[in-house]
Amino acid sequence: MKYGIDSSTHSPPRRGTAGELIQLKSSREIERMAAGGQILAAAIAFVAERTVPGVSTGELDGLAEGFIRSHDGAVPAFKWLYGFPGSICLSVNQEIVHGIPSPTRVLQEGDLLSIDVGVKYQGLYTDAAATVPVGVVSEESLRLLAVTHAALAAGIEAAQPGNHVGDIGAAIYGIVSAAGMTVAKDLVGHGVGLEPHEEPQVPNQGKPKRGAKLVPGLTIAIEPMVNLGVSETRTLSDRWTVVTADGKRSAHFEHTIAITESGPRILTLAS
Ligand code: MG
Repeated sequence: MKYGIDSSTHSPPRRGTAGELIQLKSSREIERMAAGGQILAAAIAFVAERTVPGVSTGELDGLAEGFIRSHDGAVPAFKWLYGFPGSICLSVNQEIVHGIPSPTRVLQEGDLLSIDVGVKYQGLYTDAAATVPVGVVSEESLRLLAVTHAALAAGIEAAQPGNHVGDIGAAIYGIVSAAGMTVAKDLVGHGVGLEPHEEPQVPNQGKPKRGAKLVPGLTIAIEPMVNLGVSETRTLSDRWTVVTADGKRSAHFEHTIAITESGPRILTLAS
């Protein structure tokens, strides 16, 4: 069965305050995204439960792909997206995002694993991530996870209708800088839904009341990527994996949310 975009119910694109093309979603589309997001959240939990010392990221990738495809109408959205070879992104320790799963990348006790998953369900995309400890990890790593998680929560709380993208970035940045950590440079959240990446960009820093206005029907991925050390990054020779410039650890939490009249609604939640 084919699932097209429901052109009868989603509104035409509109220009954001910076002139970008912003695609609002209908309530029916948002419900479909929430259904896909539920599969996505379950996939992250499924992978997290199997994230133990001795497992390879390649194994986890295969398990995630099987889990997602076992749900009718759902496929892993990152597979071959822009040429990415994995079904999901699995990034270890100083790797920030876009880690390529590999059978030779075996997780060790004390590692941190970022599990970043995209799901296409009935033609609509959702995107979410969580970073989990592998066995027992250091106090510093636990604090990194807690701060990044709190930054995501603050970013979501700031995503109120009438606010702007800059309010989200300012809320995230405030939490991270108060903890003495940095947000990874040049890596941002984004609109999501009809495409895996849409306008507007959702930076992890910003000024309140600046940037695209948050209006009901806007669906965005908010994703703080937080470093223990410097903000600067570099990309490995595999041309995918983004790592911290100083080799210190990084964490990543992400949800897809919809702006509604009554506030932000998280679409990537387990049932
Ligand atoms: Mg994303």
